Amino acid sequence: MAYLYDSENIFAKILRGEIPNATVLETDHTLAFRDITPQAPDHVLVIPKGPYVNFDHFAMNASDAEILDFNRTIGTLCKMLKVQPGEGGNGYRLIANSGEAAIQEVPHMHMHILAGRPLGRMLN
Ligand code: 5GP
Repeated sequence: MAYLYDSENIFAKILRGEIPNATVLETDHTLAFRDITPQAPDHVLVIPKGPYVNFDHFAMNASDAEILDFNRTIGTLCKMLKVQPGEGGNGYRLIANSGEAAIQEVPHMHMHILAGRPLGRMLN
């Protein structure tokens, strides 16, 4: 199945600077900014700058440099937010809603980082 990227989605507009955002971290290939409707004290969205619609599109098509940069950015953010369990933090949750069943709202690949409160069990 072909992946059809809609370049008018809200995160594409954020990447083009057409809509403001609260940037937490920006690298060559990745942008991280605060969610506009935070579900936790720390709720950061991490997006690749490339036109990928969801996680599998990104995982199977992005370059090694993009994937490394994306993962390292998440690691750096965990450090910035002081949530790494191995470093005395309380932990965090990563979520990448992909497609209809997961009720993905914005069709540009994004990873949620949630932290700063007890997150409960989540395996529904
Ligand atoms: P999804 O359901 O697609 O995984 O999550 C999309 C997320 O994007 C939601 O948590 C929503 O609050 C967030 N969001 C939607 N529009 C904007 C926006 O214009 N700016 C920011 N910062 N977040 C947004």
